[in-house]
Amino acid sequence: MITPSSLSLPLRALSYSHHYPLILYRLFSQRKIHNALFPRFFSPTCTNQEPLVSALIFAVKSCSSVSYCRAIHARVVKSVNYCDGFIGDQLVFVYIKYGCAEDAQMLFDEIPNKDVVSWNSLISGFLNRGFIGKCLSAFFTMKFEIGIKPNEVTLLSIVSACSDMGALDVGKYIHGYALKMGMLLETKVANSLVNMYGKSGNLDAACRIFEAISIKSIVSWNSMIVIYTQNGFAEGGVSCFNLMRMAGVKPDDGTMVALLRACEDLGVGKLAEGIHGVIFSCCLNANERIATALLNLYAKLGRLNASRKVFGEMIHPDRVAWTAMLAGYAVHGFGRKAMELFEYMVKEGLEPDHVTFTHLLNACSHSGFVKEGRYYFKIMSEVHGIEPQLDHYSCMVDLLGRSGLLNDAYELIINMPMEPNSGVWGALLSACRVYGDIELGKVVAERLIALDPLDPRNYIMLSNIFCAAGLWRDASKVRALMKDRSLIRNPGCSFIEHGNKMHRFVVGDRSHPLSEKIYVKLEELIGKIRKAGFVSKTEFVLHDVEEEVKEDMINKHSEKLAIAFGLLVTNAGMPLIITKNLRICGDCHSTAKFISLVEKRAIIIRDSKRFHHFDNGLCSCGDYW
Ligand SMILES: [Zn+2]
Ligand SMILES: [Zn+2]
Repeated sequence: MITPSSLSLPLRALSYSHHYPLILYRLFSQRKIHNALFPRFFSPTCTNQEPLVSALIFAVKSCSSVSYCRAIHARVVKSVNYCDGFIGDQLVFVYIKYGCAEDAQMLFDEIPNKDVVSWNSLISGFLNRGFIGKCLSAFFTMKFEIGIKPNEVTLLSIVSACSDMGALDVGKYIHGYALKMGMLLETKVANSLVNMYGKSGNLDAACRIFEAISIKSIVSWNSMIVIYTQNGFAEGGVSCFNLMRMAGVKPDDGTMVALLRACEDLGVGKLAEGIHGVIFSCCLNANERIATALLNLYAKLGRLNASRKVFGEMIHPDRVAWTAMLAGYAVHGFGRKAMELFEYMVKEGLEPDHVTFTHLLNACSHSGFVKEGRYYFKIMSEVHGIEPQLDHYSCMVDLLGRSGLLNDAYELIINMPMEPNSGVWGALLSACRVYGDIELGKVVAERLIALDPLDPRNYIMLSNIFCAAGLWRDASKVRALMKDRSLIRNPGCSFIEHGNKMHRFVVGDRSHPLSEKIYVKLEELIGKIRKAGFVSKTEFVLHDVEEEVKEDMINKHSEKLAIAFGLLVTNAGMPLIITKNLRICGDCHSTAKFISLVEKRAIIIRDSKRFHHFDNGLCSCGDYW
């Protein structure tokens, strides 16, 4: 029997030939074509044009494959002409939809008397398929060569193409044109321009257009919240939400997801609780997309119990929700829980995807489950048909490196089917630092610096490896190279939330109003933990200075100040949640472990890589990070 796929080639070749319908009918009459492929109107005896035209339009619209589209195209060629009821436009659109841009363009050129609707169909088709260049060039032909005036629909597609392509000059031209033609009064057009300017980092321009919109839709508000956050002004996003509420606009799921994203950037737990309350009051708590974003946010803010609660309340969590919960367990170092969740998820009949596996391998890596990690890496492709990608490789390298299997990790990288990126090499470099493998560390750091010469972290890591081995001269060479290339390390700082405020500390900070008390508390703590057996790990100061000075500097690291402040202002039993912008150093890590023991206080520190849960003298990372 002839199937659509076996037909597609000859039909493609014949689609512009006048013999094509004839051949098709012959095949059809010989019953070589499956009846179900063609609706009843396809009968050669059908003579009444009007129902035929509407049936053809319907058939074109519901085309499920390009070969089907070609068959209908043949019928159109034989029985009606392209001017009838936009059939031509529809055919063009379907050809583009299935990726046949050339066919679409050829057919489009053949259609007589094209109006703005025909052009819009071509332009939006190109846009939807991601043929952004073709989209813009069709627009210019239409406007400047043919002289057809674009309407609102055309502008929407073009502005969207401009933002995808970053073609801000064309976008600005369209903005001017829309202004001149009075089309900015159309909220959708204004929204698309707000988006375009926002995406390209022109926050001011986006704000100006937004403010001028007389009837702001929910889409206008949501875009503005997203844009503020994307441009690094999450606070602006939250204010925008408040204005939206004052304007009496009811938030929808898009608003909430955008707002939760803003809250993630701000890292304020109180705000998350507030938004959670709004979600309830707007009866949006049953919405899975929102619940997933919320559980994700709580996990990122160090409140894993709250995440677990949100997840437990979901009625039918989908794969994304399961994966988000798994990611929460992974980043907090609860590897066993993450694996249990994965097994449960598969048992529930949900098929994991590559994101699920990234978090699962991450969980194994953060908890040091080498055997399990290797097993999951294997079944990922063999059982679930997911080929490992760069992320999966970096998790595996991290996992092997953590267990001291540096050669296995190196071998895995060398045998990767794709070019390793900085994430993969970076994971191995961390392992070289922890295990003090200077030779391999040098090789890896060179690769990393070649891949990304502007990332100061690689230089710092290499310099740290040299420092830890007492090779001060090599370390200072690396630092000099960094200086030559004008690379500056971000200053380390720690945040802790208290009394509706985020308190920020940098190393040796004396700007806090409670500074005196903080230093007294810190001294008292250090005395206490020394008695319990704590010894400063001065090699982590990583500067070629005297022991005493080293110890003095290390005792003023920002996370230590944040811990002392947290202990001063919070009630007994309350866990301290601290965020650090860089990785925590070995001395602060050890200090936090001892403080959790002597003060009987859980301390959660989120550094740039993961969460550390310090409790009773131990950390959830098992001292590898
Ligand atoms: Zn430190
Ligand atoms: Zn830790």
